[in-house]
Amino acid sequence: MTPTLPAIPGTYGLILWLPHDTRARIGRLGTYDFPAGWYAYWGSAHGPGGLAARIRHHVNLTTRPHWHFDFLRPHGQIKAVLFTLHPDDLECLWVQRALTFPNANVPAQGFGNQDCRQRCPAHLLYFGTHLNLDDLATHVKASTTVHLD
Ligand SMILES: [Zn+2]
Repeated sequence: MTPTLPAIPGTYGLILWLPHDTRARIGRLGTYDFPAGWYAYWGSAHGPGGLAARIRHHVNLTTRPHWHFDFLRPHGQIKAVLFTLHPDDLECLWVQRALTFPNANVPAQGFGNQDCRQRCPAHLLYFGTHLNLDDLATHVKASTTVHLD
């Protein structure tokens, strides 16, 4: 299943539902416990294929994990993608905004920070078992939300 997304650069938030408490090794970052519930992973895509290619990589399961998120991805379901086509890298700004959203937590220090330039605590945030996606999209100022399954 691949959502219809633009093949141009942008900033995104992947909304992951983790159905069970999960212990996972996140590459060289280490092994962490991830409680069941809602997660958002923030990134930007500037390579060939833009957002469409990056989101396709994350929605499909990869056999060669590269990003930290690739290690958590198989344990959950991607329920939605928030994004904007603003030309600037906004991922760190979106992390900073999302950190002030109710119930935001950092489950694994440094998760997803491979390209971080703002010293974010992590680019993966946990929101507990209830998440109002529309409120989160408004909070980070995403322009578009695409729901999956
Ligand atoms: Zn950052």
